[in-house]
Amino acid sequence: MTRHYNFCAGPAALPTPVLERAREELLDYQGRGLSVMEMSHRSPEFVAIAEQAEADLRELLAVPENYKVLFLQGGASLQFSMVPMNLLGKGGTANFLYTGIWGKKAQTEAKQLGFGVHVAGSSEAGGHTEVPAQADLTLSEDAAYLHYTANETIGGLAFDYIPDVDVPLVCDYSSSLLAEPLDVSRFGVIYAGAQKNIGPAGLTLVLVRDDLLDRRCERIPGLFDYRAMAEAGSMVNTPPTYAWYLAGRVFQWLKHDIGGLEAMAAINARKAASLYAAIDASGLYSNPIAVRNRSRMNVPFVLADERLDKPFLAEAEEAGLLNLKGHRSVGGMRASLYNAVPEAAVEALIAFMADFEQRRG
Ligand code: PMP
Repeated sequence: MTRHYNFCAGPAALPTPVLERAREELLDYQGRGLSVMEMSHRSPEFVAIAEQAEADLRELLAVPENYKVLFLQGGASLQFSMVPMNLLGKGGTANFLYTGIWGKKAQTEAKQLGFGVHVAGSSEAGGHTEVPAQADLTLSEDAAYLHYTANETIGGLAFDYIPDVDVPLVCDYSSSLLAEPLDVSRFGVIYAGAQKNIGPAGLTLVLVRDDLLDRRCERIPGLFDYRAMAEAGSMVNTPPTYAWYLAGRVFQWLKHDIGGLEAMAAINARKAASLYAAIDASGLYSNPIAVRNRSRMNVPFVLADERLDKPFLAEAEEAGLLNLKGHRSVGGMRASLYNAVPEAAVEALIAFMADFEQRRG
């Protein structure tokens, strides 16, 4: 059996020890004689798995007590609708920072539901290569919150600061949650699709501050209602039990194998620094993002000659370096360096890139 190095943007690499543990427990979970997939979500076994996962996540991120942690479905995309439905009550406006494709989708969904959208800052003019500075944000006075995307997964553009504003901050952390420590108390809502740093697809994490649970629309569907979900322990209906269990195993891996988020952040910083340094030193590869806003999770790069894209990808795959093709909307390459991508993978990628440049550049 060979596990190749996987640079996919999502669903992304999972830690091998997590998959090994899941394999061990697959048919017979801890002597219960059945798989986690086959358990009632209301059984004591599964409730214990769910509670442990939440406790570990709370510990990893030092989540304050006045926040609920929800384990939901629908992906981060459903949060584009659920956030305004829960926070904008009977109507109103939200501020948005526009730094790429995902932030745009969040705006579009809010608009679609009839809510007001005010763009309080944008990186569009510069081709999304640098996030707007705090001093340049122009917030609408009557907006109920400010929404932004911490890390734009496609553009590889990341905030290097947490906006300091008077309204609750709502942040799409899909592609960078758990990559480093985070001061959760700065936010009203944090959400993330699981399929990057958290676990497999099908699970969405939402952290919401208690005082925001009573601002929802009157006619909100039960499954979209943060308060109803919080009161039911995220079990208004059948939750994605196996994804929840695997996320719990990832949290244990972060705590025990890695040693927490400080240690994870140091590893991630090294991985990103060495790949960007290799790109900057080469004559073939380039990345356009302002250095302060370069994503540590998603590193897009282009080759000076587009005709080399195909051979680059084919040879990379042959070398066991998978999923380096950039998003279909932008082309080029993208190496995603999430938590489960080991330093050895990045070293192998850098060596391959140097060798390719020497032969074909
Ligand atoms: N936001 C960001 C930053 C993302 O990277 C993605 C998925 N790549 C989404 C939202 C959408 O997530 P999902 O597919 O879980 O709806």
